[in-house]
Amino acid sequence: QTQRSMSFSACRPPAEPGQTLDQVDTPALQVDLNAFDENCIRLKRIMDTEFPAVRVRPHAKAHKCPQLAQRQLGILGSRASGICCQKVGEAEALAAGGLRNILVSNEVVSPGKLRRLVALAAQGTRIALCVDNSVALASAAGIAAEAGTSLEVLVEVNVGQERCGVDTAEQVLQLAKQVQSSEGVSFGGIQAYQGALQHLRHSADRAAAVAKVVDKVKHVLGVLGAAGIQCPSVTGGGSGTFTEEAGSGVFTEVQPGSFAFGDADYRINEGWQSLWQQSLWLLATVMSRNVAAGRAVLDAGLKAASLDSGPPVLPAEATGGVPMQFLSGGDEHGVLLMPKEAAEEGRLPNLGELLRLIPGHVDPTMNQHDWLATCGWEEVYVCAIELVKSFIE
Ligand code: PLP
Ligand code: MN
Repeated sequence: QTQRSMSFSACRPPAEPGQTLDQVDTPALQVDLNAFDENCIRLKRIMDTEFPAVRVRPHAKAHKCPQLAQRQLGILGSRASGICCQKVGEAEALAAGGLRNILVSNEVVSPGKLRRLVALAAQGTRIALCVDNSVALASAAGIAAEAGTSLEVLVEVNVGQERCGVDTAEQVLQLAKQVQSSEGVSFGGIQAYQGALQHLRHSADRAAAVAKVVDKVKHVLGVLGAAGIQCPSVTGGGSGTFTEEAGSGVFTEVQPGSFAFGDADYRINEGWQSLWQQSLWLLATVMSRNVAAGRAVLDAGLKAASLDSGPPVLPAEATGGVPMQFLSGGDEHGVLLMPKEAAEEGRLPNLGELLRLIPGHVDPTMNQHDWLATCGWEEVYVCAIELVKSFIE
């Protein structure tokens, strides 16, 4: 028997409603809801004015948080087709939080996980998933049919990421036909996502690279069409390229996730900072300092910040324009370095000072925290939002 207990202090939120930012227990993540909302409003405006025929399915793997998903859909209104996530556990948390149209933008293979998805569908949530294999498709269809319910299936096409997805239009056609002749599944269309393009720094390079994705998608649609198969949805595109997919004339839906938060890696994409506000902050406290070495040590290390796409960044405004570099100090320590002369002039952050850093990469950083402290329009209140982790595990 597993005991599910929330009594350990590790599960305690880093702040209580009504507290101010300087009372947050660090390391912690803060979402500035003002900026978060602005980003969602901006996305809606872009879609309304430039791509009225295309819908958005915000990617919840960025936040893993039903409350934020609801907030996004509330702002996007009829612009949104639903929500995306990457994992069955995320889909369960989103469904429990009231989301009723969920795309798991990923392959799900194990029977246990398929049964969990089918259970959500049986409870009235519209569930879609990706397939790239006929055995996996047969398994999903069988499990859904046995439960007397249905899953929507998107055939994933490999458009250059060399991850999941079938390579050829003929393979897409075979799987689409199999979907159409199977009980327990319906054909939802295709997914064509190319993650490697999201961080091409120049807009022109992103546009040229997405053009190749679009060529392949057009070929696939041609082959399906010639066989008399209509493709209801063509979905893909992340925060770096979604305007390209949306403007292609073939994509019907885009899936950006990080746009709502921002990170140091995306911020150096051409055009990013003129579109999006930084809403996600890593809060850390100076726990030790060494003026002679130009070093301040933070209580945020590898367990609070992902370094896979580069380190968190302290905005230069926070140190009066002096550039600071974040280095890993190990699991629980982050080392901030500044030029020694600047430190000797008194520019090093103070002991006990709370600093706000821009995370290097939204998704894995978010995954390392159980709570989000939020700061709303009124600025001075902080409350905690439950994440998937403390929700279901
Ligand atoms: N769609 C899929 C299938 C993804 O894997 C991802 C991210 O990796 C996204 C959309 C959203 O990406 P981003 O958060 O960079 O916008
Ligand atoms: Mn990411």
